[in-house]
Amino acid sequence: MPKLTVVVPAYNESEGLRDFHARVAAVLDRLDLETEVLYVDDGSRDDTYAVMCALREADPRVSTLKLSRNFGKELALTAGLDHVDADAAVVIDADLQDPPELIPTFVQHWRDGYDVVYGTRASRAGETGFKKMTASGFYRVMERLSSTPIPRDTGDFRLLSRRALDALGKVRERQRFMKGLFTWVGFRQLSVVYHRDPRHAGETKWNYWKLWNFAIDGITSFSGAPLKLATYVGLIAALVAFGFALWVLGKALLFGDPVRGYPSLMVVVLFLGGVQLMALGVIGEYLGRLYVESKQRPLYLIDEYHPSVG
Ligand code: UDP
Ligand code: MG
Repeated sequence: MPKLTVVVPAYNESEGLRDFHARVAAVLDRLDLETEVLYVDDGSRDDTYAVMCALREADPRVSTLKLSRNFGKELALTAGLDHVDADAAVVIDADLQDPPELIPTFVQHWRDGYDVVYGTRASRAGETGFKKMTASGFYRVMERLSSTPIPRDTGDFRLLSRRALDALGKVRERQRFMKGLFTWVGFRQLSVVYHRDPRHAGETKWNYWKLWNFAIDGITSFSGAPLKLATYVGLIAALVAFGFALWVLGKALLFGDPVRGYPSLMVVVLFLGGVQLMALGVIGEYLGRLYVESKQRPLYLIDEYHPSVG
């Protein structure tokens, strides 16, 4: 019988984890597949791991993986996916924002031959207008800049076939923008629309600073466009400066030059200084990422791994 592993990254989710497991288990009971639920504890500071272990003792389908510290969701997810030996894996958040009841639909499409079946949010209940606006702006920018089209309003909630998993396993970059990587692997992909619920318990681990950095990670790992932009802004500024220089020179030669022009001088100096710093910043973003990659550190470290007994 084919096997399905549900990978659940969790960081400080002890409050809602039991309810989560009850709902997932009920869904898995109805599938005619061998199933496993792999909980990845991403260095939680509450008793999430203890809850996971209790779940493992009570349910033979449960596996637990504990990372040595908090590595962030992208890496927790990677660690989980690296430990999947099944024919397919489903990635789902532990906070019940992604309805487990959608898993059978994913499985159905997988059986019909799709490699990546992802959930697209038709609504985002429990999120502020500002969050929705920034998210939509981000997707629009990504669409423009990236050569890998990243589907809108799509989180990590999805099913991956064995060959999609194998392909992802070969991607060892450290700044992992998973949404992008999932799309990058290609094969046959399908979107399933669903309504995203508010968080069941606990609170979100995101704040705007983290989201901003997440967006920069996404853009820099899937597009070199900002570097090109720096080049072209530089080029245009240089051309304008050259034209202005000719004008100033001509004026001085024809009419002489009583010392004036402090405002225009300041404007030019400040403008060019600003453009230069911005371009350096863009280069710095890429260089910093290159630096992290070049260190070749392992993506994550494992504290304990207990495979399911069932
Ligand atoms: N998560 C994680 N490590 C982290 C932060 C989050 O494993 O450092 C998990 C978290 O427990 C949850 C999922 O990633 O299962 C999504 O997190 P969250 O609900 O905070 O994100 P949001 O739904 O607000 O995008
Ligand atoms: Mg959430």
